[in-house]
Amino acid sequence: VVVVGAGIIGASVAARLAGAGVEVCLVDREGPAAGASSAGEGNVLVSDKRPGPELALALRGAELWRELADDAKSRRVEGLHSRFGAFEFETKGGLVVASSPDELECLRALALLQREEGAHVELVSETGLRGLEPALSPGLVGGAYYEQDCQVQPMLAVGFLLGEAAAQGGRVVPQVEVLGARHGRGGAVQALRTSRGWVEVGRWVINAAGAWAGEVARRLGGALPVKPRRGHVLVTEPLPPLISHKVYEAGYVSSVYEAAASWRCAAVIEATASGTMLLGSSRELAGFDNRPRSEIVASIAWRAVALVPGLAQARLMRAYVGFRPATPDNLPIIGADLAVGGLLHAAGHEGAGIGLALVTAELVEAVVFGRAPRLDLAPFAPGRFGSEEW
Ligand SMILES: Cc1cc2nc3c(=O)[nH]c(=O)nc-3n(C[C@H](O)[C@H](O)[C@H](O)COP(=O)(O)OP(=O)(O)OC[C@H]3O[C@@H](n4cnc5c(N)ncnc54)[C@H](O)[C@@H]3O)c2cc1C
Repeated sequence: VVVVGAGIIGASVAARLAGAGVEVCLVDREGPAAGASSAGEGNVLVSDKRPGPELALALRGAELWRELADDAKSRRVEGLHSRFGAFEFETKGGLVVASSPDELECLRALALLQREEGAHVELVSETGLRGLEPALSPGLVGGAYYEQDCQVQPMLAVGFLLGEAAAQGGRVVPQVEVLGARHGRGGAVQALRTSRGWVEVGRWVINAAGAWAGEVARRLGGALPVKPRRGHVLVTEPLPPLISHKVYEAGYVSSVYEAAASWRCAAVIEATASGTMLLGSSRELAGFDNRPRSEIVASIAWRAVALVPGLAQARLMRAYVGFRPATPDNLPIIGADLAVGGLLHAAGHEGAGIGLALVTAELVEAVVFGRAPRLDLAPFAPGRFGSEEW
C-alpha cells in the first residue's frame, strides 16, 4: 500500500496497516505534519458533532485515542513533557458556554440528541460554570460539559504514529510529490509518477493528502470535492494556569457547518502542556493563502477575552493559518474510489481530522482487508456527491 500524505490521517493509516502486517510506503511532498496537522489545535471532540454518523465516528475516534495513549503509557513512551506522555494526551473534558438564553436552549437541544447516541454530556448552570472554570466571564448564562472531549499535541501524535509505522516495517519517505499515475488493465493504478521517479503500487494507493486530496485525486485520474477552509490560531506566551478544560462558545458549532464564503470566528480556548494558550478559530473559503489577516486575529483575540477576561493581559507570541480539508456535506471521505481501481480516499476531515484520525485508519484497514467495517461507510462514501459545482 502506498499512502500519500504524512499528516495525522496518513500517519494513522500507515501505523494501523503496518501493524496489521501490510507492506506500507508513505510519501509526502514535504515531510511529517507539513499541512493542517501542524496547524490544528489537537482537540478530540465529541461535543461539536451532529448526531448520526458523524457522532458515531467521533465517539469511536475518542475511544481509540484513549486506548492508544494507555498503550503508549504502558510501554513508557514519553514526549516532550513527561507528565503528559508520548503525545500530550489529556482527558480534560470540553465546556461549551452560552452567552444568551437562546444559545443555551440550542445547546440543550443538541446535548439531548447527542446523549441518546452515547455522548456523556451534562448541562451546566451559570453558577456551575463558575465552579468548573472560575476565570470565565460573569456574562455567561450556562453551558454543557462533555466528559469525553480530550486533547492531543498533533505534531507529537504524527511523529509517534510514524514511529509506530516504521517500527513495524513501514517506510516513510519525505520530499516525494505524487504527480500522476500509470494505470493497468481495467484502469487500476499500477504505479505513481512522483518527483523522484516511479513508485510501484501493490494493491492500494491511499489518498490522505488533506486539503490537497482533490488535486491528488485529479492527478490519479479521479475527482474529489475537497477544498481548503482556512483557519487562524493565536498562540499566547506561556501563562499561569487560567482554564483547565477546553472551553468554547456555543456559536462554534454552527460556524463549523456554515459554508459562508466570508470569514467568521468563534472563540475556542485551550491551555497546552507548555503553558501557552491556543486561541482559535476562524473559518473561510479563501484558497491556500497562508498570510494571517489582522482583522481576523483581532476578532479572535476579542472573542477570547470576552470569554476569559484574564486573557486581556496576555501577549501573543504568534498567529498562523492552516487549511482544513472541507467537503460539501462536512463529512469525511473514506472508502474506495469507484471510478479509479486501487484508489482509496481518507480525506476531507475539515476541523476534526485529529480527533477522527484513528477511527479513519480503523475503517481503512477494514476496506484493505475486505472486512465488514465497524461503522457503516455509506455516509462517507467517495461516490456520494452529485455533479454540482463546489
Ligand atoms: C486552525 C485549525 C484548527 C484545527 N483544530 C483542530 C482540532 O482542534 N481538532 C481536530 O480534530 N482537527 C482540527 N483541525 C483540523 C485538522 O488539523 C485536519 O482535519 C487534519 O490535520 C487533516 O489531516 P490530514 O492528514 O488529512 O491532512 P494534512 O495534515 O494537511 O496532510 C496532508 C499532507 O499531504 C501532503 N501532500 C499534499 N499533496 C501531496 C502530493 N501531491 N504528493 C505528496 N504529498 C502531498 C502535504 O504535504 C501534507 O503533509 C484544525 C485545522 C485548522 C486549520
